Amino acid sequence: MTILSPASKTSDGKRRHRTTVTAPMQDPFGRHISYLRVSVTDRCDFRCVYCMSEHMTFLPKKELLSLEELDRLCSVFIAKGVRTLRITGGEPLVRKNIMALFEGLGRHLKSGALEELTLTTNGSQLPKYAQQLRDAGVERINISLDTLKPDLFKAITRWGEFGDVMAGIEAAEKAGLKIKINAVALKGVNEHEIEDLIRFAHGRGADLTLIETMPLGDIDGDRTDQYLPLSIVRARLMDTFTMTDNPYRTGGPARYVTVEETGGRLGFITPLTHNFCESCNRVRLTCTGTLFMCLGQEDAADLRAPLRASADDADVSRAIDAAILRKPKGHDFIIDRRSAKPAVGRHMSVTGG
Ligand code: SAM
Ligand code: SF4
Repeated sequence: MTILSPASKTSDGKRRHRTTVTAPMQDPFGRHISYLRVSVTDRCDFRCVYCMSEHMTFLPKKELLSLEELDRLCSVFIAKGVRTLRITGGEPLVRKNIMALFEGLGRHLKSGALEELTLTTNGSQLPKYAQQLRDAGVERINISLDTLKPDLFKAITRWGEFGDVMAGIEAAEKAGLKIKINAVALKGVNEHEIEDLIRFAHGRGADLTLIETMPLGDIDGDRTDQYLPLSIVRARLMDTFTMTDNPYRTGGPARYVTVEETGGRLGFITPLTHNFCESCNRVRLTCTGTLFMCLGQEDAADLRAPLRASADDADVSRAIDAAILRKPKGHDFIIDRRSAKPAVGRHMSVTGG
């Protein structure tokens, strides 16, 4: 069933695009698509060793969708059944005037069309933006933090300042944002710090999620040197902690346990050791308007052309429908010394982690 919402006017008198409201999106495997991740920039103020090379070539700024275009595309997805919207990047908070996007999208929270507006950030800009994010309706955020040692933090992020991220975490707490910490488990780097990260996160009432490195984009080095299977981490943690399976789900790939000693939740994202695709409910939009139906596959749909071709959202809505029908069953990540190339050429910062 298709319903056309009437064209309306914004508070500043501008005309909003007419949005086509359709039944919730469903892919060929019966999975409902209710989660959209949007990478609003491929740029970043850090250069994490597993994510980027030190000298990255970024997209020319003219290639990027404007914030108004991003708002329009997100709004079409919301009209088509997206309930959770995660803004990511690159580092989303380094995009100029990014708060205007959050403030604009906040109207969908107020109307009840959107259940959650959230973001993934390295935390460096949170001292500046935490309160504005909360005011825009953001309730929970993910902050990436791989180590508690300032020197190691510098080595991993290359350009990051540990103190800025700690100040960002404090600002987020002060603003009343619920925090989840994400840490990539890296062999020989932070593998013996996982217990400390658990205590740090749980001590602040935050969940911690551990992530395996994924073979996305060229970096300066060999990913096989970084890859640490979380099965090994989990087995080691069992020497110290009692972990009980926790049915908590966010619709995402993380599988959770409760750490009985801390009372906190610990998530594992294991794309390499366990394929997490059977319940995948998400698609990913890049800052140029390219829609990826799977983080680990190359197939994509261009939404920028239909978006710019017409002021009516019907064309872009049809392009989204066609793309969802091509959502693959899953990815084929493999980290293997025999294949020097990453499984997917684009970096995580392009597709949006
Ligand atoms: N800059 C923000 C941040 O770091 O949180 C958002 C974008 S970043 C690409 C999102 C997440 O992807 C981070 O938690 C980061 O650690 C993770 N990530 C980046 N490259 C990765 C890779 N190759 N494998 C696994 N996780 C990766
Ligand atoms: Fe930047 Fe996030 Fe990638 Fe680190 S993981 S380089 S903070 S985009």
